[in-house]
Amino acid sequence: MEEEMKTLVENNILVVLPHPDDEAFGVSGTLAMHVQNGAKVTYACLTLGEMGRNMGIPPFANRVTLPEIRKKELEASCRAIGIQDLRMLGFHDKTIEFELQELLDERIDALLQELRPSLVITFYPGYSVHPDHDACGAAVIRTVGRLSEKERPLVHCIAFAKNLEQSIGNPDIINNVRDFLKQKMSSIEAHRSQFQAAELLGSKKLKPREIQDRFGTERFWTYSFK
Ligand SMILES: [Zn+2]
Repeated sequence: MEEEMKTLVENNILVVLPHPDDEAFGVSGTLAMHVQNGAKVTYACLTLGEMGRNMGIPPFANRVTLPEIRKKELEASCRAIGIQDLRMLGFHDKTIEFELQELLDERIDALLQELRPSLVITFYPGYSVHPDHDACGAAVIRTVGRLSEKERPLVHCIAFAKNLEQSIGNPDIINNVRDFLKQKMSSIEAHRSQFQAAELLGSKKLKPREIQDRFGTERFWTYSFK
């Protein structure tokens, strides 16, 4: 019985996403849940989202101050979720698809070797709408795919393209994160420069029931390397 429990509990998770705030809507509740269950979470964020067009409502950032502001927002989001280890990899925003693949793969491989995660979370390449998301997911899948089957962690992918179920089927992991909405909402609100939603939540325009319906579930596709 105890053995069985252990297989369900992830103890070492690596999250690889390209932008500060990518963690907030799709995965923060799941990560907060794993942290509460004792997992160590490392979040490798490829860029600082410094090319983002949003500067806050009303604006409080500008092109010069945005990177530092987004860095602080990312740190606050990680604190809200309980992420213990944040790595900012320093790639340029909006250009991940043009990075040398070798360079991206090398950095991701170094993390895999150092951390030996049991679970990796990233975007599903081809089904994640933004070119940076797709390029990030593709790099993770390439790099994890080079590991031997024995060394290979599970990979859970976030995806949100239109009609994606027709291509990749239904998500096989559906997490109810209603017990972790406090952490999730704090993560979303931390990204003040980016989300109008944060303003919306901050002024309590959403009823608790609406928050549960909108944010209470997170879905993942386990990547098949076969
Ligand atoms: Zn993004």
